[in-house]
Amino acid sequence: MSEQIERVKCLIIGSGPAGYTAAIYAARADMKPLLYTGMEPGGQLTTTTEVDNFPGYPEGIDGPAMMVDLQKQAERFGTEVRIGMVTEVNFASEKGGIHTAIVDGKTKIEANTIIISTGATAKYLGLPSEQRLRGGGVSACAVCDGFFYRGQDVAIVGAGDTAAEEATYLSNICTKVTMLVRKGEMRASKAMQHRVAQTKNIEVLFNSEVEEVLGDQVVEGLRIVNNQTNEKHDIEITGLFIAIGHKPNTDIFKGQLDMDDAGYLKTKAGSTYTNMPGVFASGDVQDKIYRQAITAAGTGCMAALDAERYLAEVGIVEEVIGGNY
Ligand SMILES: Cc1cc2nc3c(=O)[nH]c(=O)nc-3n(C[C@H](O)[C@H](O)[C@H](O)COP(=O)(O)OP(=O)(O)OC[C@H]3O[C@@H](n4cnc5c(N)ncnc54)[C@H](O)[C@@H]3O)c2cc1C
Repeated sequence: MSEQIERVKCLIIGSGPAGYTAAIYAARADMKPLLYTGMEPGGQLTTTTEVDNFPGYPEGIDGPAMMVDLQKQAERFGTEVRIGMVTEVNFASEKGGIHTAIVDGKTKIEANTIIISTGATAKYLGLPSEQRLRGGGVSACAVCDGFFYRGQDVAIVGAGDTAAEEATYLSNICTKVTMLVRKGEMRASKAMQHRVAQTKNIEVLFNSEVEEVLGDQVVEGLRIVNNQTNEKHDIEITGLFIAIGHKPNTDIFKGQLDMDDAGYLKTKAGSTYTNMPGVFASGDVQDKIYRQAITAAGTGCMAALDAERYLAEVGIVEEVIGGNY
């Protein structure tokens, strides 16, 4: 481990909409934030082509381009953005204590406040054809991308409440929704199952799995296999939605921060406070319900304001200059 230790008022972990929005607010409050991007600079939106629902872009915007804009805006006010992965944290449990984070296993950062915006990673099936067509008709977000398939036939993979909810969402936009359920029954609540069963343009295929996503540049169909009979058949679709869950990126916080059963960080209602004083959580890492760029940005703003108030409360008003000491 290097001997170099820096101390900052505000360390932001993650470079999605939550992290960059927190950075814009923290920088404008003169907290001189330091932001580490992680392995996916720009976050999940860099995996999508068109973002149509973020306010302020009347013609829509390419996901990676939007994230470059957010980074520039954060840097404009003095955020220092660094490529690097936080690999370890040690949170001080007393109010006003100094937290530490290790970056890439070697650089130690000390911080009065830490804003966690590490997001959640959508799970995919792992088929080569699926990975090749991500952004070409394969999506992990029906609310985000369903609109692009209005009036078309689509399929959705998943059996839980989210899958059922997304299937009914898609049924209002698309002509037909084929829902593929791996087992002989759905995991979704009875109420959601009922809603799916009552929706005329949703067809549920049980014991069914995707063998291959068909299409060269864009999705043109699916080869489906029945895992009981091994029978295969093809269907024509233009969009495939994967709704088999998300994994919040919280492994490094285990044992220190309160989480729910799925690993999402718990925050105090109506705020971004975690159970550790001076540690705040924003974006998808603490939100398994909405998971949108605008909600992530909203909680990023809240986290910076919460951190600013916390610093004032514990009396950290003097200039903390990043650098060796
Ligand atoms: C295919 C797809 C399309 C989507 N389309 C839309 C859309 O059109 N509109 C919309 O509103 N939403 C859309 N979403 C959802 C949206 O992308 C997310 O809600 C949003 O990106 C969440 O922002 P976030 O900042 O919480 O986290 P993310 O965007 O997930 O960013 C997390 C960040 O944390 C970093 N990180 C993780 N671990 C570490 C670590 N240990 N150290 C340092 N950094 C770390 C990552 O590198 C990344 O930069 C889409 C999602 C997907 C998957």
